[in-house]
Amino acid sequence: MSVYSPSIEKLIESFEKLPSIGHKTAQRLAFYMLNQTDEEIKEFTDSITNAKKNLKFCKECFFTSDTDPCYICSNPKRDHSTICVVEDVKDVIAMERTHEYSGVYHVLHGSISPMKGIGPNDIKVKELLNRVMTGEIKEIILATNPRVEGEATAMYISKLVKPMGVKTTRIARGIPIGGDLEYTDEVTLTKALEGRSEI
Ligand SMILES: [Zn+2]
Repeated sequence: MSVYSPSIEKLIESFEKLPSIGHKTAQRLAFYMLNQTDEEIKEFTDSITNAKKNLKFCKECFFTSDTDPCYICSNPKRDHSTICVVEDVKDVIAMERTHEYSGVYHVLHGSISPMKGIGPNDIKVKELLNRVMTGEIKEIILATNPRVEGEATAMYISKLVKPMGVKTTRIARGIPIGGDLEYTDEVTLTKALEGRSEI
């Protein structure tokens, strides 16, 4: 039996669903929120609702932005002939933080994982091939995470893209195996990008 009322219990449960939030933290957040004024709570919930409402997927690269095409794809100063392929929106942010990459991106929204039943058709591979088929792409940089799924995804894409006559590179090791781009510091990520090699 819970010591809390059902509505408080529900709030704690909602916080517990957030990434890296355990039960204790969820309780703390719930009571923190309950101590806020009505106005503060409204501001908080509105910011979530509005962010979600204004969120658009770029039809070109599938990055999320308030505009479509996104601010990266619509920037004429970016090199539109180089595509950096990443698994997640957060990886674009990580790459952008390095300030060393001037090409554009392609967000796969996942990686191939037979174990989890995720095949090439479940992620944005077809959309990437469509971009390559325009004939305007000179290099594809595979920056999927250095985990089993990320490696398998990189291999799969390189096998499809290479016959199309496009230079295909993989970012260098240096990112800890099993690590995520998201949690890699800027210097390591820049080195991994600079040290990319053809596959
Ligand atoms: Zn875009």
